[in-house]
Amino acid sequence: MVSKYVFVTGGVLSGLGKGVTAASIALLIKSMGYSVTAIKIDPYVNVDAGTMNPYMHGEVFVTEDGGETDLDIGHYERFLDVNLSKDNNITTGKIYSIVIEKERRGDFLGQTVQIIPHVTDEIKNQIELVARKYGSDVTVVEIGGTVGDIEGLPFLEAARQLRLERGPENVLFTHVVLVPRLSTSGELKTKPAQHSMQELRRIGIQPDVLVARSSTPLTDEARRKLSLFGNLPATHIFSNPDVEVIYEVPLKLHAQGLTKVLAERLRLDYVEPDLSLWARYVNKFVNSERRVRIAMVGKYTRLTDSYLSIVEALKHAGTSFGVRPELVWVEATEVEKGTLNVEDIAGSVEGAVILPGFGERGVEGKINAIRVFREAEIPVFGICFGLQLMVVEFARNVLGLSNAHTTEVDPETPHPVVDLLSSQRGTIVKGGTMRLGSIEVKLVPGTLAWRIYGGVGVVSERHRHRYQINPAYLKAFEENDFVVSGFSPEGFPEVMELKNRKFYLGVQYHPEFKSRPLRPSPIFTAFINALLDSRRS
Ligand code: GLN
Repeated sequence: MVSKYVFVTGGVLSGLGKGVTAASIALLIKSMGYSVTAIKIDPYVNVDAGTMNPYMHGEVFVTEDGGETDLDIGHYERFLDVNLSKDNNITTGKIYSIVIEKERRGDFLGQTVQIIPHVTDEIKNQIELVARKYGSDVTVVEIGGTVGDIEGLPFLEAARQLRLERGPENVLFTHVVLVPRLSTSGELKTKPAQHSMQELRRIGIQPDVLVARSSTPLTDEARRKLSLFGNLPATHIFSNPDVEVIYEVPLKLHAQGLTKVLAERLRLDYVEPDLSLWARYVNKFVNSERRVRIAMVGKYTRLTDSYLSIVEALKHAGTSFGVRPELVWVEATEVEKGTLNVEDIAGSVEGAVILPGFGERGVEGKINAIRVFREAEIPVFGICFGLQLMVVEFARNVLGLSNAHTTEVDPETPHPVVDLLSSQRGTIVKGGTMRLGSIEVKLVPGTLAWRIYGGVGVVSERHRHRYQINPAYLKAFEENDFVVSGFSPEGFPEVMELKNRKFYLGVQYHPEFKSRPLRPSPIFTAFINALLDSRRS
């Protein structure tokens, strides 16, 4: 079967949940028994997401092969329950660097290298490479940004060309729009969506399917207008109102007949998808009555998408126990300024997650918060920078090593308990040079970490860091019951835990990236379990 493509574009504004729509479409096609992969196109000039502040586009999602990708890749992995690669995230930066490299090599000798056809050809080429690599029947391609953005134009043009070359039965266009509701009249307004579809038609793309995001379900009147002005049948317009949990979206779209429309338009044999496991998960989530309050200590807390995979992993683990995590965001910079009282928070939560991060801002606030939570003896779970700062806090306040620090923040510290990885010495280039991707961790038998993973000796988890815990201080830590329960292949600490505590544990890696709704991460599951236990006791 020739590979077919579903493009997903967005109109009116960004942040509409286009990624969830794309992931849902991919899931519905997969559930009919077809092989599916998904690509995220980000029209920015960065080669990858690794060098961007999470405030720009949310978290950086790390793939098995060490790609630093857009967070939508995380949605695709969680919905499709597959591991994707860095190739599944295409950016303007990536395309241009390939085209420029080819030009320098002389591949286009004699020609004027132009956006059309050279850049658009490379876009199609990269999309097709991914389809071929996965041998997918259908490849869902989400084009980031909003229709009308200058940056997005070459990608939309490439999509238009692909439809012309492959035919409408092999290339389908889905457009996701916002249909705002006026609070005064309660009316759903379709005008911005109409303009966005007009803009798409102006560049030669007529959407086959429209997904309307709104706070309440689409009314018949709104659907009629969208159909008339959007130039597509009302049966191809799908309502995607706000939901409690994103995993409900494929169920809602399927119930309105989207799977049938996709099969029909792509000339795929329709097979009734079995979404029962999915439906059971959503039911369990929605009906989870118990709540656990978790303090989330970080410095990007004003945009919670900065920690998307961690939030999702907590929900996955919570749902497996029928509990819903209630997150209490602790902004480290406010703790530092004294405008947020951690003691009060410690008294009202069941546990705390010390979030990953980089750099100096808010660090002293995080260290203060860790001390309070450690002394309150509630479960504490540190991830990457979170573990590193748990180590700094312990060194200062338990081992009495004043001014102990990570050299990332204080290169002159007398006690560098966290220091640059030896493999990073001499690394100057910042893009894509951290210790990245899936690497093995050797667990120490008998430890909590070892029990959490079911007593297996070696596990594989994803990484993204430049610094490590300094082995020179391990003896002092271990003598004070803060022990290493997992080592890297090179022999530096990957997991540390405080003995005789239910859960005071930190990991150098990011277990959140491998958590799936129906297969939660063991370590997140153990953390939630510890929270439930501590409440019972
Ligand atoms: N900044 C730390 C390092 O580079 C931690 C990184 C992280 O939390 N992902 O090692």
